[in-house]
Amino acid sequence: MGSISESATVPYRPTPADITLENHRPGDPAKILFQNVRILDSTGRLPYLGSVLIEGERVVAVGQVDPSATEGALIIDGEGRKTLMSGLIDAHTHLSWNNARNLDDLIKLPAEEHVLFTAHSAKTYLDCGYTMCFGAAAARPRLDIAVKASIKSGLIPGPRSLANAPEITTTGGAIAPSISRYADGPYEMRKAVREAIELGADNVKLSMTGDNFVDDMPSQDTYFTLEETVAAVEEAHNRGKRVCAHARSAASVKMCLVAGVDVIYHASFIDAEGMDLLERHKDSVFVAPTINLPIATCAGAAVPYGVTVELAEKQGLRHEVDVACTAMTEMHRRGIRMLPGGDYGFAWTPHGTYARDLQHFVTRFGYTPMESILAATALGGEMMGHPDELGKVQPGYYADVILVDGDPLADIAVLQDQEKLHAIVINGHVHKHVR
Ligand SMILES: [Zn+2]
Repeated sequence: MGSISESATVPYRPTPADITLENHRPGDPAKILFQNVRILDSTGRLPYLGSVLIEGERVVAVGQVDPSATEGALIIDGEGRKTLMSGLIDAHTHLSWNNARNLDDLIKLPAEEHVLFTAHSAKTYLDCGYTMCFGAAAARPRLDIAVKASIKSGLIPGPRSLANAPEITTTGGAIAPSISRYADGPYEMRKAVREAIELGADNVKLSMTGDNFVDDMPSQDTYFTLEETVAAVEEAHNRGKRVCAHARSAASVKMCLVAGVDVIYHASFIDAEGMDLLERHKDSVFVAPTINLPIATCAGAAVPYGVTVELAEKQGLRHEVDVACTAMTEMHRRGIRMLPGGDYGFAWTPHGTYARDLQHFVTRFGYTPMESILAATALGGEMMGHPDELGKVQPGYYADVILVDGDPLADIAVLQDQEKLHAIVINGHVHKHVR
């Protein structure tokens, strides 16, 4: 892409989007006391035994709770072994991906059914302990936006979310043509971003590269120019919106960093120059590797859908997984803010299996279980734009917590088992409580 100039980069913080919920309503307990729980507070401190008091939609006391403050509280007992922790984030959420067999089947569901499916995905996230979802493109223009509004009003259950619109791509560069918004050149980029903002999107998605999963569109191919990337980011940032990008190639990662993209997805083929640039920008950018889909495909999960392990190998997926895991291990070493999550909603990586990502961070990128949990909680609060209210169990934070029957530090996979989630509370509302 020629010489890289960082002059286009302006230190920037997107305006925090509205993540408030109105579902603390009459009938919800005024107070909830978690007692005798192992508190994993996401400050980095090791779990310790204590109590957590919730009042209304917020956590008000953690550790020692004044008994006189707990009168009338719903009491949930952890029996000294259950772990109370923040709800999780999926950093690359597609609520409207409908467990299809391929990208173009994502739109084959009629619109009415698609709305219901998207609402159901949102509930599934919450059922799995996910209280934060960072939208990474919708299959129809307003699906994320409508579902977010319905969750906010209490009409349907779901996580706090940042909504996205259809992903923006260039002519000839669409990996999912039927669900893409096309734009070529800086002026059309600006218009496409403005359209997403007009719809009500919190996030804008750029699909900048190929994807080994798609025939004749290798992951190393780059379909955006720097000029287009800069125009899209400038337009979004002018309106306080975040930009995330499907960026698998080395060139695309550098364009993202120069242009000021907020969230880089995949980054599999990042080169040495890109890695150094990323490190220099580590306080203003997040990376979500979104590695589960290629890992699952290489492991044969897609065989029932016609993608054999041999085909996955031929498509370059195994090579990409190998290269990406090496890159992510190096990013971890350099302190890049990496978050789990991503691309759930295909037939062999269906909704409900999200927490596999936390395990991949441990087994593939060299994270400790604690680091993986911090990435899925505290960093989630940062990515959602509310680091002082989301992602930790601390006084003043929103009461978005899960009670796990087990020790996720001893076995990170316990978070994949919905039956081990004995309580799920969001905004002080009890979504689930197993007695
Ligand atoms: Zn995606």
